[in-house]
Amino acid sequence: MVSKQFQFSCACGALLAAERRLAGRQGKCQGCGAVFEIPQPGVLSTAPRADAIAVQEVCGICQTAIAEDDPRTLCQACDLPYHAECWVENLGCAAYGCSQVNVLKVGPDIRIPSPASPLPGSRQPGFPQAGQSPLGASGYQGGALPSAVDRAAASPTLAWDYLWMGASAVGVFLSILSYGGPSAVTGLAALVAYAFQQDKSHWGPAATSLLLSAVGVVFGLRLSLLFWQAT
Ligand SMILES: [Zn+2]
Ligand SMILES: [Zn+2]
Ligand SMILES: [Zn+2]
Repeated sequence: MVSKQFQFSCACGALLAAERRLAGRQGKCQGCGAVFEIPQPGVLSTAPRADAIAVQEVCGICQTAIAEDDPRTLCQACDLPYHAECWVENLGCAAYGCSQVNVLKVGPDIRIPSPASPLPGSRQPGFPQAGQSPLGASGYQGGALPSAVDRAAASPTLAWDYLWMGASAVGVFLSILSYGGPSAVTGLAALVAYAFQQDKSHWGPAATSLLLSAVGVVFGLRLSLLFWQAT
């Protein structure tokens, strides 16, 4: 489809052709290089005279012509053309009052979540609900207890999550020589604790604990058989 063009004369005498949508915009004469406002169309014609020169569009930021092969950005709100580079440098549109002004700017209202903010679900005391401590279940004797207590002060749920998963991990090691027993206990504890947990979206620790326990039971059984038969 050929867009309708209209013709007008530049002050230098050159006959210029412009698409109708460009009326009122900044244009540049390729003959004399003058930048001017493209006039409103007079007579529209799909067949401009062969000697008419196409008027060049002018970037609304740097006020120089946008060449045919220049990367360009059209403002999606006001439809003004810009050099792609100028658009990025200007952080968006340059038209006064346009909604795309400063559209690329990262404002102070865009917040990057800080690591200090509480994890989802950690505000609710999800665990323990079962009244059973995984500490006792697996005979956890790790040296990580003091730091876990520190975390407990900041977020009780988080501390329990660590203890819980830690206990399951220790259970795996204990299970290697005891036919998977400790892992069976931690796995059961994880199931019970999750069943009584109020915040069901907080399932990560329970799933991790369960997975560790399953591994502990399977490998514990096999390795224990091998070990006790060998001695
Ligand atoms: Zn001219
Ligand atoms: Zn430009
Ligand atoms: Zn705009």
